[in-house]
Amino acid sequence: MKLSEILKKHSFKFTKKLGQNFLSDENLLGEIVSLSGVDQNTCVVEIGCGAGTLTKELSKRAKFVYGYEIDKTLAPVLGETLSGVENCEITFKDIMKEDVSALEKRIGEHYKIVANLPYYITSPLIMKFIENSALCDAIVIMVQEEVAKRILAAPGTADYGAITAGINLVADSERLINVTREKFYPTPEVDSAVVKITFNRDKFTVKDKKLYRVAVRTAFSSRRKTLANNLVLGLKISREQAENILSSAKIPLMARGETLSAEDFVRLSDCMYEQKVGL
Ligand code: SAM
Repeated sequence: MKLSEILKKHSFKFTKKLGQNFLSDENLLGEIVSLSGVDQNTCVVEIGCGAGTLTKELSKRAKFVYGYEIDKTLAPVLGETLSGVENCEITFKDIMKEDVSALEKRIGEHYKIVANLPYYITSPLIMKFIENSALCDAIVIMVQEEVAKRILAAPGTADYGAITAGINLVADSERLINVTREKFYPTPEVDSAVVKITFNRDKFTVKDKKLYRVAVRTAFSSRRKTLANNLVLGLKISREQAENILSSAKIPLMARGETLSAEDFVRLSDCMYEQKVGL
């Protein structure tokens, strides 16, 4: 049965604010799963199962799929699309309320996230796993084109921001495919892309990861201001101390936050740590 017929049969009503734009193109679904590198040894966490089209494709190739879906009215739809699928478990819960450590304890091994994300939670969701995950190997997600650009941006460009610097501390990102809006039902107002964020947790050694995040947040608190000004205002320190930290971190005194690479932020936060600032 076609997806639209299954949805109609169960009188499913789309909720726009939950980012419900479903995929049914089997070639595209197969391509996403192939590019994600999931195989019979891989556990997968899928966020936002929707009508279960991607879930089904994933379960054909993965060891086990742990799916999350916030909308309980999709239960009968998922019951039908996933009938007979045994290596899959759907939790009807807001993923943002899930504890990453508890989830990882339940899975008990390394895993990948593969998802056509609800767009309204994209950035907090990525940061939740970037900051708290110990066992996630990769995040393969469909995101709005604008977010893909932000994830992949180079320092000094308009798209580079706190999320880029946050990801770059522990992972490497790449664009896998572009997906036009017509591939979704209902059709959203923007095009999308699938990006892969691969964890590389030993990339940098930083004295205090929380302080790295404080440095990034402070640096991007006002793009119009120099980094020194943001440090003075955000960390409530004197200009002299801000300039001292920047000199020790070998960052130009007039630099702006958005020009700093992850490596620069590591040096900055390590110097903040040495001077007991922002702790
Ligand atoms: N995976 C399906 C597909 O590709 O067709 C659906 C993707 S749709 C873009 C996003 C799904 O995420 C929707 O089914 C929506 O109800 C669900 N969702 C939205 N917010 C969520 C949340 N906070 N936690 C879990 N699922 C959520």
